[in-house]
Amino acid sequence: MIKIGLSELSENEVIIEKIIQIATLDDKNILAIFRDPIEIYLKFKKNSEDVVFLCGWVKGQMNLICDRCLASYSYSFKSFIEVQYQRPDKENVPYEETLFEIDTEYFTGDFLDVSDVIRQTLILSIPIHALCNENCLGLCNSCGKSLKEGLCQCQELKRDSRWDALKKWKLD
Ligand SMILES: [Zn+2]
Ligand SMILES: [Zn+2]
Repeated sequence: MIKIGLSELSENEVIIEKIIQIATLDDKNILAIFRDPIEIYLKFKKNSEDVVFLCGWVKGQMNLICDRCLASYSYSFKSFIEVQYQRPDKENVPYEETLFEIDTEYFTGDFLDVSDVIRQTLILSIPIHALCNENCLGLCNSCGKSLKEGLCQCQELKRDSRWDALKKWKLD
């Protein structure tokens, strides 16, 4: 759990820069993908005892498996956080000025638990399509060899122009 006490936050901005270990987040999906350490940068601005605006980023590396060649590779990411914390009984609190509509999280008591927001940010950082390289050639359909290690025999045969003559002959 990563907690920030409301009393630690002044009316001015308070910046927290931290290096955290994945285990702190206590989530087995995150544990399986992300690597230690994760860097976090959080900037809090307390509007009142009921509203705190948070922006910042989370940065680190994750282990992914390429959709095409099935090789594991390391992926660096930096994802931004923008959220407004408010007490659940307060309605229509004006948003901090921002270009986009921002997420609202609720808190009670004297501290903010930012673990959830960090967890969500990490999960949203996982790309939908994982590619070790944009131009990854993937695996050969016939023999299953990863083509980034060079062409396999099947591909060499396909490329061999001597076979073109044979193809024509077959069509005739
Ligand atoms: Zn690949
Ligand atoms: Zn092949």
